[in-house]
Amino acid sequence: MCPRRFMFRYVLGLEPEFRSVALVLGSTVGSAIGWWFEEKLARKTPTIDDALLVFEADFEAETLGMPVRWKNAPREALIEQGRGLVGLYLREQGGLSVARVEEAFRFDLEDPETGEVLPRALKGYFDLVLEDGTIVELKTSSRRWSDLELTRHLQIGAYVAADHVRSGGDPSRLHVHVLVKTKSPRLEVLTVERTEGQNRWWLMAAMELERAILAGHYPPSPGPLCIECEHGRACSGWAHEAPRHQAPKSLPVLHRDESPVALTI
Ligand code: SF4
Repeated sequence: MCPRRFMFRYVLGLEPEFRSVALVLGSTVGSAIGWWFEEKLARKTPTIDDALLVFEADFEAETLGMPVRWKNAPREALIEQGRGLVGLYLREQGGLSVARVEEAFRFDLEDPETGEVLPRALKGYFDLVLEDGTIVELKTSSRRWSDLELTRHLQIGAYVAADHVRSGGDPSRLHVHVLVKTKSPRLEVLTVERTEGQNRWWLMAAMELERAILAGHYPPSPGPLCIECEHGRACSGWAHEAPRHQAPKSLPVLHRDESPVALTI
């Protein structure tokens, strides 16, 4: 979502300045649900109360020793919210026939026009793979997902592409389970249906992003997400610490026969 944030985290490997409570909640709810299905795969009989304890322990561990931006909600209220989300999911979907949890995938990015294969493969994990081959991606969100998110979300596009490769070209079967963090939480089960054109759009976008990464281009993309950015201080400091180019004293004058090449804003 922001190339510079990506650079701080994945290229420079900076520690986050704080943990975003939304990220902590999303990852700890997801791991408690993953734990439930792993227990069932190991032929154990987990209870929802056990899963809630796993969630609470993970939440403690994730927030220990690291500043957390709690927004306005007290810690206890967030733990209660997480417990509500885990309980809701397991009551409604805990009986799913899950075959694998956190299944790794990897595939090459290949330009459909030139056949060029980019040097690095795309790697990731499916949250859940069901016995009939359906992929389930778990999400927590403060609002319901729009159709646009299902068709343009880069991560979802990557799962569709990975599933296409995995199944040998069969149409993708991908469901997104969105736990919506409203006052009374609810679960939305969404089926991803994307056209060929939308999948191609994703592939071209992914290749452009990877080419920018390989070329070392990480421009900042400021917006509403800056408020939640774990590298906000590093981002502000970067402008002061980076070598400054000499600014021109006046703008260059363009003559009529010169084609303007500078960005116009
Ligand atoms: S503060 Fe904003 S522009 Fe800077 S890295 Fe973070 S998200 Fe990007």
